Amino acid sequence: MLNRQHSTEKSLAYLQLTEACQLGGCPICTLMHQSTFRFLDALFYESVTDVGTRMTLWRSRGFCNWHAWFTVRELMGSAQGIAIIYHDLLSQEIEDLQKLLTQQLPRRTSLFPQAIFPPAALERFTRRWRQKTRCPVCIWVQWEERCALEVLCHSLGNPVFLADFSRSAGLCVPHLRQAILVGQSSPHLPRLLEIQCTRYQRLAEELKEFDRKHDYRFAHEPWGSESNSWRRVVEQFVGKREIFGNEVHSASLGSPVSRWPRFLLRLWQWMKKKWSAEASLVEEAIDLGQNNQPAEYPHGEHPYSPPP
Ligand SMILES: [Zn+2]
Ligand SMILES: [Zn+2]
Repeated sequence: MLNRQHSTEKSLAYLQLTEACQLGGCPICTLMHQSTFRFLDALFYESVTDVGTRMTLWRSRGFCNWHAWFTVRELMGSAQGIAIIYHDLLSQEIEDLQKLLTQQLPRRTSLFPQAIFPPAALERFTRRWRQKTRCPVCIWVQWEERCALEVLCHSLGNPVFLADFSRSAGLCVPHLRQAILVGQSSPHLPRLLEIQCTRYQRLAEELKEFDRKHDYRFAHEPWGSESNSWRRVVEQFVGKREIFGNEVHSASLGSPVSRWPRFLLRLWQWMKKKWSAEASLVEEAIDLGQNNQPAEYPHGEHPYSPPP
């Protein structure tokens, strides 16, 4: 039963992938966009009052930034659903804030002279946000992405699909990396790389042509397909808009600060080790020169071993 269900999903994914090849841009990005829409459309159409859905959204504190704005922008009938879901979440936020406010320190203590709230209370408050589960749309779309990449790698052995894919814009750079990871043992992987290479080369030529026609000597020449190559290269390189996240918050708040002392400590330990090793090496060299005997390193350790 499970196998049949799995193969049905794969067949559906194949059909969607074939269609996506004809829609311009990276077909995997296109599928992810369509999948996002279908997921949110179904959720707002029939699951807003479903207890399980509300619990999932409560644990994830709603949607991620992109999927929340995607809903606002693209799902015209979602306004009431958004109001219901976010009323719940906002009520929880108000409760948490009120709880925190009651924990204000009455006066500064000698232990924490700068503290207005007990550090543990602030930590508890911020931890609740840090420990929220992932956006459910992101989880779903990531699963669909993986499935689409598997289908792609498998279907390249089908001449009909191969022809469709060869006519498409090909994969964006990040999805090519993912396809290589997913299909690293696929016999069709070299074909995929060849198609991608041809796509990128063609685009590189169009970019060169675009640049050339900005020279006043050739500015009178009519524009061809290269006219929008500067836009297409952005999509080809980073994927479609709102598919891959930005990197502003890829490192969590505070982590650079918390990482520094550990890094400095390790650097200091390594330098100390290196200095003492160098000092002993000099001593050993002097001894060696004096005694003409090979030096031995303690515990068999080489003094110039790299830092840990
Ligand atoms: Zn893509
Ligand atoms: Zn999301």
